[in-house]
Amino acid sequence: MPALLSAVVPVFNEAEGLAPLYERLSAALDAATALLTHEVPQGFESDRWEILLVDDGSRDASWQEIAALASGDRRVKGIRFARNFGKEAAMAAGLHAARGQAVVILDADLQHPPELIPQMVALWQQGAQIVTAVRTDRETDPLWRRALTRLFYRLYQAISEVALTPGGGDFRLLDRRVVAALNALPERKRFLKGLANWVGFTHQTIPFRPAARHAGRSAWSLRKLWRYAIDGLVSFTTLPLHIWSSIGALVALLSAGYGGYLILRTLVFGRDVPGYASIMVAILFLSGVQLISLGVLGEYLGRVFEEVKRRPLYLVGEVANLPDPGVAPGFGVAAPPAQPERK
Ligand code: UDP
Ligand code: MG
Repeated sequence: MPALLSAVVPVFNEAEGLAPLYERLSAALDAATALLTHEVPQGFESDRWEILLVDDGSRDASWQEIAALASGDRRVKGIRFARNFGKEAAMAAGLHAARGQAVVILDADLQHPPELIPQMVALWQQGAQIVTAVRTDRETDPLWRRALTRLFYRLYQAISEVALTPGGGDFRLLDRRVVAALNALPERKRFLKGLANWVGFTHQTIPFRPAARHAGRSAWSLRKLWRYAIDGLVSFTTLPLHIWSSIGALVALLSAGYGGYLILRTLVFGRDVPGYASIMVAILFLSGVQLISLGVLGEYLGRVFEEVKRRPLYLVGEVANLPDPGVAPGFGVAAPPAQPERK
């Protein structure tokens, strides 16, 4: 059943938060759809909005919660992953299944206040195709995480071809056109913060203060954040690969100069055996450089490997109020794009 407005919510171990989320989100969606002056197409009259809760392999009672909400309100739809595939996969699944003319993505922990949605929808009505809610502060994040986030954004801006919206999280509204563009992207590893800027379109921002987590705790460990940061960087720039050719050329040039100097010195002053320190330093430095460059190559190669396997982004175990994907694997994953004609 199509709807005018969809809300996509990735859910991972958020059982306690889901009932309050439903209360506040449905009130916000009521308010937002009341604003809509689009004429209502036939069949939309009763369901002006839908909420898609994507259970990313939770280990608590989140799915039971989702199923209960879905049986009480048909506008609530649930997708349950076969295991934890990560927030990016959960958002992708939501975008695949969403039918709304505009889709709002927000976190399940009520850090993204649903009350902002009417304002986002108002901007959408004025022509914005992407509306990103930008945090005015990060007080709710621990200090170490704030410092690392700042570092990541600096590095990202310096080396990436795509800008990130500073302070922009994953709380955003996407027009149907943008959703269609994102759904058509073939890549397996996704970084929506970057993609939302990569696709272009008319982009507006709106400030907000993130609330404290309603219940539970953040699922992002340092290890997860590190992987996420590397994925984010590697998917939008190949600069780290090019750097090594420049560094290699520079080091080769320096070694040639130093080698020439050594030959001259030997010719003028005769053989000179001591030199342990310089040899050790050179070996250690160069092997360090080589290992880093191999690591960088490995990051990209690993991604190529991930992509060529063409495994689905996620697997669906169960659905609620949605057509059952049955046993078809990779439900909702966009079909691979047609091969371009070779000339
Ligand atoms: N989330 C998810 N899969 C994961 C980790 C998180 O779907 O593997 C969801 C989580 O339920 C929440 C959102 O992503 O709705 C943001 O997660 P969290 O609050 O842990 O992150 P933070 O707010 O600390 O950035
Ligand atoms: Mg959170």
